[in-house]
Amino acid sequence: MEGRSHLLMGLAAGVVLDSFVHLSGDPLTLATSVPLALVVKKAVFYSAVGFGALLPDIDNARSMLGRRFGWISRTIQHVAGHRTIFHSLLGLALGSLLAIGLEQVVIFLLGTRGLQAPAHIVSLSHVVFFGVLFGCIVHIACDSLTEGGVPLFWPYRKRFGIPPRPDMRFKTGTWVEHVVVWGFIILVLLGIWQSILVI
Ligand SMILES: [Zn+2]
Repeated sequence: MEGRSHLLMGLAAGVVLDSFVHLSGDPLTLATSVPLALVVKKAVFYSAVGFGALLPDIDNARSMLGRRFGWISRTIQHVAGHRTIFHSLLGLALGSLLAIGLEQVVIFLLGTRGLQAPAHIVSLSHVVFFGVLFGCIVHIACDSLTEGGVPLFWPYRKRFGIPPRPDMRFKTGTWVEHVVVWGFIILVLLGIWQSILVI
């Protein structure tokens, strides 16, 4: 799937997730006043989801994110290849462990200086973590709809997709991709309009 499609699908799926679990704080549609902290939290959440929705394609130097990461992306593509660990459950697990480990290191280092991270910063960092993780999951789910499928259980190389037969899935960048993306966005907008989803 193209970078722009991933971004749109990630953000739209983020609206759906947030309407159920309110990761980004209280819903704006129900708020009588909108404090700045709430706006910041929502901006952080949707930025994290958007970034996560593009992140797995860092293994493709020609992707939207890969072009910005330059040599880092080229090296990853050279070493790992496109649609390998970055499009797998193992990649999601290792990435999560890395983020959790990093948080523990920061807490430890602050602790050695007798400091403690402010609660709102810790809470925002969790919003970033879940936002990026969710964006990555949506990315992999979206790629599974394409002809190439995803190696979900990498290093086992078999690729999986929905539907299971590759010839029933669409090719990246074709009109079907745009129908799927805009169809999903229209559904989410209808959900907001019907107030089934509250953001
Ligand atoms: Zn991808």
